[in-house]
Amino acid sequence: MTLRNLIRPLVRKLHAYVPGEQPKVRNLVKLNTNENPWPPSPKVLKAMRDAVDERLRKYPNPTAQVLREKLARLHGCDPENIIIGNGSDELLALATRAFVEPAPAIARGAKDLSRQARLRSTIQWFHPSYSLYPVLSGIHGAIANPVPLDEDFGIPAKTELRRRGWQHAAALSYVTTPNAPGGRGYSTSELDRLCRDAKGILILDEAYVDFAEESAESLALKHPHVIVSRTFSKSYSLCFQRIGYFIAHPEVIDALDRIRDSYNVNGLAQVGAMATLEDLKYYQANFKRIKMLRRETAEKLTLSGFTVLPSQTNFLFVRPPRFAAKTWQLKLRDRKIIVRWFDIPEVKDYLRVTIGTPKEMSAFQAAVKKILAG
Ligand SMILES: *Cc1c(COP(=O)(O)O)cnc(C)c1O
Repeated sequence: MTLRNLIRPLVRKLHAYVPGEQPKVRNLVKLNTNENPWPPSPKVLKAMRDAVDERLRKYPNPTAQVLREKLARLHGCDPENIIIGNGSDELLALATRAFVEPAPAIARGAKDLSRQARLRSTIQWFHPSYSLYPVLSGIHGAIANPVPLDEDFGIPAKTELRRRGWQHAAALSYVTTPNAPGGRGYSTSELDRLCRDAKGILILDEAYVDFAEESAESLALKHPHVIVSRTFSKSYSLCFQRIGYFIAHPEVIDALDRIRDSYNVNGLAQVGAMATLEDLKYYQANFKRIKMLRRETAEKLTLSGFTVLPSQTNFLFVRPPRFAAKTWQLKLRDRKIIVRWFDIPEVKDYLRVTIGTPKEMSAFQAAVKKILAG
C-alpha cells in the first residue's frame, strides 16, 4: 500500500489556490492582497472585545439570524434571501456542490457526455478573473469553461461571447464585478443582459462593489437564478474574521443552507459584522478616502510612465515602464514594498497594487522614483 493510492486521483492532480503572500516581517508595505489599509471602526473592535467572555463556551447562532435580519433591512429584502458564509469563498464553494453535477472522471474534457449532461456539469467564468474559480471547479470535478474577456477586460458582446464558448445554459457561472485583477466595472444593464440570457445559476461576485460606481444587487432580487455575493473582508476590514454573504431567491438560499456546516459562521465574526452595520458612516468615509487615493496614485503613476487601467476597486492594475512587471515586483520587494504579480500569460505585463494609507502610497511612489532613477 502506498499512501498516495489512498488519495483520490482528482485530489492528487489538483492545483490548489495560491493566496497572496502574508509576510512574517513587520516593516513591509503590504499592497498585495487588497486588504483595507484601515482598521475596523472603534465600535466594531469594542463590540468584539466585549464579546470575548463566558459565551465563547457556547455554540453561536447557527443561522446568523440577527445578522441576516440586519442585512435584509439594508438590502430591502427578507432574511430568507440571505445566507452567511465563512468568507464569501465558502459560499462560492457551496454553490458548486448545490448546483453542479460532478462529471465522471473519464468524461471531463471528453465529448462522450450528452450535451445536456455536459451543461449540468459545467462551471464557467471569465478569464482573467478571480483565480479561485478554476480551483473550485477542479475540486468539484466539474467541466471547466474559462472564457476570455476582451483585451481591456470588457465582457464580449453577444455574438462574440457565443463564439468564445460562453454557454448560457452552464450549470454555474461566476462573474467578478467589478473585475479582479483588472479593476474594471461593468454596468448593471450589461450584467442584466447576461443574467437574462443565463439558464443556469449565475453569481455576481461583488467583492469590490463598495469602491465602484454602481452595484448590481437589484439583479439578485429580480432574477430567481442570480446570486449576488458580498464580503466583509475588503471594504469592512474584516478579512481576519472570514465573513461574507449571498443575496438570492429563497429557494436558492435554501439549497445552499441544506449543505452548509451547521455552525459555519463563528460567533465573533457575527458580532463584528453586526457592529459594522451599525457604523456604516465610518466605512463610507473610508471608501471615499480610498477612491481619492486611487485617483492620486493613478495620476502619479501615469506621470511616471505607467499605463494605469481605470479601476472601480481598491487596487490599480498597472503596466510598468522600463523593466518587466516581474522585475518590478522584485525591485519593489527589495525596497520592502509588496505588490502582486500574476504568472498568467494575459496579465504578465501588469502589477496589481492595492491602495494603502497615504503614508504607504508615498513610500510606494518614492520607491518607484528610485527604481526609475536606477
Ligand atoms: C477577496 C475576494 C473574495 C473572497 O472574499 P472572502 O469573503 O474573504 O472569502 C471573493 N471574490 C473576489 C473577487 C475577491 O477578490
